Amino acid sequence: MATVEQHLPQTPNGVTSAGEGIPVENPATGQIVATVPDLSADAVAEMAARGRAAQPGWQAYGFEGRCRVLLRAQKWVMDNAEQVVSTIVSETGKTYEDAQLAEIGYAGNAFGFWAKEAPNYLADERVKSSQVLVKGKKIMMRYRPLGLIGVIGPWNYPLTNSFGDCIPALAAGNSVILKPSEITPLTSLLMAEGLRECGLPENVLQIATGRGETGAALVEHVDMIMFTGSTRTGKKVAEAAARRLIPASLELGGKDPMLVLADADVERAANFATYYSMQNAGQTCISIERAYVEEPVYDEFVAKVSEKVRALRVGKSDGPGSVEVGAITFPPQMQTIKDHVADAVQKGARVLAGGEQLPGAGRFFEPTVLVDVDHTMKIMTEETFGPTLPIMKVADVEEAVRLANDSPYGLGASVFTRDTERGGEIARRIEVGAANVNDAMINYTVLELPMGGAKASGLGSRHGAGGIRKYCSQQAIVITPKLALKKELFMYPYSRRTTRLLARLFKLMYGRGKRD
Ligand code: NDP
Repeated sequence: MATVEQHLPQTPNGVTSAGEGIPVENPATGQIVATVPDLSADAVAEMAARGRAAQPGWQAYGFEGRCRVLLRAQKWVMDNAEQVVSTIVSETGKTYEDAQLAEIGYAGNAFGFWAKEAPNYLADERVKSSQVLVKGKKIMMRYRPLGLIGVIGPWNYPLTNSFGDCIPALAAGNSVILKPSEITPLTSLLMAEGLRECGLPENVLQIATGRGETGAALVEHVDMIMFTGSTRTGKKVAEAAARRLIPASLELGGKDPMLVLADADVERAANFATYYSMQNAGQTCISIERAYVEEPVYDEFVAKVSEKVRALRVGKSDGPGSVEVGAITFPPQMQTIKDHVADAVQKGARVLAGGEQLPGAGRFFEPTVLVDVDHTMKIMTEETFGPTLPIMKVADVEEAVRLANDSPYGLGASVFTRDTERGGEIARRIEVGAANVNDAMINYTVLELPMGGAKASGLGSRHGAGGIRKYCSQQAIVITPKLALKKELFMYPYSRRTTRLLARLFKLMYGRGKRD
């Protein structure tokens, strides 16, 4: 099998990818697996010029031509799945299964979905108007690609989050520059090479490897910025976009609550709590980050979750089925996790499972369950982004909903109850972009649904019609047939007669009917 290094392309400014620039570490081993260029603001400006020059040709491919490339890419991902998984695992330290399910599975679905739906979501729309002055005219709304899109991605899902947003942007007819996280740039480089193999024209998709400054430079050159990352950086990106008056779509942090009601299937709830708090080592924006459990089932739920979490194997993934919980990808994240656990313990929380960093070269934190927690603790109010599950006992649903909403974030939530109608009503009361009843996180895989956050979790959304229309501007077109009057009634010269006629017409149109 080819190694990651063999698949690193020549970069646009001629720097070879190995030997200088930013070292990429495997968090599971501590070893440097590659080095990528740290692109300057000037290099980003040059890429932007090349991207702009390439865009009209790509737009001219039409949906059919573009979607053909995307469908080839779908097959490419499947044909090269092992290589893509090993690249993802090498730079994130996640498990084979976490890379397979949430990245390969996502990309396979997404390439096909956007290839099929882009022409539908972006089709010209014929509009009917109640406006009498345009009777007989053809009224249209069309979506026009914005031009050059900047995508800035985080390190937790290099394929799904960083690269995933490029797919609809490309399907819409834009060229794209992707700035992956400096921690995980290899997957994006590999995917760009794959797309080239599939026939994507040169410079339609470019990867700008670099640090935060490279991302900041990108915002200065694009027509729209799609950002996924922390709320702190998201605000900086939004400010920079506002200064340039370009649209920004922001997918930011979360602190997703899980509500377990007294009538829940406790075994199912415990399995879902365990999986969706520990999957990807908890480094998912829509991880279950806190659980509120009604008193009658609290003890049973805590016992089940603790037992299941203690059984999880943590460590370096040596292929399928080797471990359940992988590494902490981003070095400073380990300190945040330890700080949140220590803060909770110091304020009276009890650790029922895990609680410590594992010794050794790899960066691992034990899957951790905490009880006796409350909202004075960071672990209940700030994004931990680690393999932790704090569980809080609540008296009733009212308390659970109040605590779920006691958060600056509003990304996702889950409610477990056998009364699905009531569950749906409770879901509507939680201030989040997506809520699942008797499930968690699964909404993300439904590409027909918008995925976005409320409150400090973001602005805009990905997926669904809005997830591709945001990469376009809307253009209104009104066409008057050739057999039209020489002039309209309301035009010059003004006369008493036509003014009165118009007044009567307006009264007739808008002045009838009852008003209470
Ligand atoms: P960061 O905000 O630290 O970084 C995100 C990206 O922005 C990186 O590529 C980073 O580059 C870049 N960047 C840093 N500074 C700037 C700047 N001034 N201008 C432009 N770009 C900049 O987030 P993380 O990578 O730590 O990602 C984790 C966060 O992402 C979590 O909070 C998580 O909840 C959130 N997230 C949200 C998702 C959602 O869909 N809502 C999905 C996944 C994650 P570099 O890394 O090189 O510094």
